[in-house]
Amino acid sequence: MTEIKYDLHSHSHYSDGELSPTQLVLRAKEHGVNTLALTDHDTVAGLAEAQLAATEQDINLITGIELSCEWSKKPFHILGLNIDPNNAELLAGTQRLQVIRLERAKKIAAKLEKNKIPGAWEAVQASAGTGMITRPHFANFLLENNHVSSIQNAFDRYLGQGKPAFVSTQWVELENAIQWIQAAGGVAVVAHPMRYRLTASWMRRFLAAFKEYGGEGIEVITARSNPDEVRRVIQFAKQFELYGSMGSDFHTPKNQWVELGRLAPLPENIRPVWELFD
Ligand code: AMP
Ligand code: MN
Ligand code: MN
Ligand code: MN
Repeated sequence: MTEIKYDLHSHSHYSDGELSPTQLVLRAKEHGVNTLALTDHDTVAGLAEAQLAATEQDINLITGIELSCEWSKKPFHILGLNIDPNNAELLAGTQRLQVIRLERAKKIAAKLEKNKIPGAWEAVQASAGTGMITRPHFANFLLENNHVSSIQNAFDRYLGQGKPAFVSTQWVELENAIQWIQAAGGVAVVAHPMRYRLTASWMRRFLAAFKEYGGEGIEVITARSNPDEVRRVIQFAKQFELYGSMGSDFHTPKNQWVELGRLAPLPENIRPVWELFD
């Protein structure tokens, strides 16, 4: 029996990933991942292509999404795993998020223009194509036009919170995001819990709300989590009786720190989220 190697968090060019769904699946195959979730930001548009490639490559594709939401006015990312991509309620939710993203993108472009950087709107529309417009699209535009020295620099100087082109955005409510995932038969999972920089008491308040609304899982293993963070997340998971997930959050082959197929195994003292997949 071959070992099952999971990666339940990744992106394609339907959001801010660099690869097409087909290229992503091929790369997963090359790197030994045999159960892959494509979880683009706020869209299911890449899943049909990913499914075709996965069938071809004998990879088990978990249909997924990463929803941008907020709770207590703070932004969070919630993964929906094993969703029905044709569910009407989920699709209506992604349409709401697409509008929010479009309006935000226009405002980001206007702010850049005020900072003497014209042309962003046209550029990100062209680079995003039919996919979601994300801040990395703006970062790429800034880098390609030599306004910044790196993608990180683009966030530090223009796009990050409190910077000149930052647009504070009202995403959808956490409760709605979880509701849509559940309507689509999926499992709601907190993405990269350590990236929100919450104090332990805020984390507990957030997880209590997440659980109350029907959330079931939390990402325990990510590409960049250290052993101490893993231990802390496991403690939270146990306290709130959440299932553990693992995902690289792969976006691009250019980031040497985040690659498919390199995740540590899920610790054995936590129940794996895939027990909930039919
Ligand atoms: P958005 O959802 O449009 O606000 O874009 C968020 C995405 O930007 C995340 O999913 C990351 O892929 C990327 N991102 C956020 N912060 C940074 C950063 N400091 N450097 C590089 N990429 C980032
Ligand atoms: Mn992203
Ligand atoms: Mn995220
Ligand atoms: Mn992600």
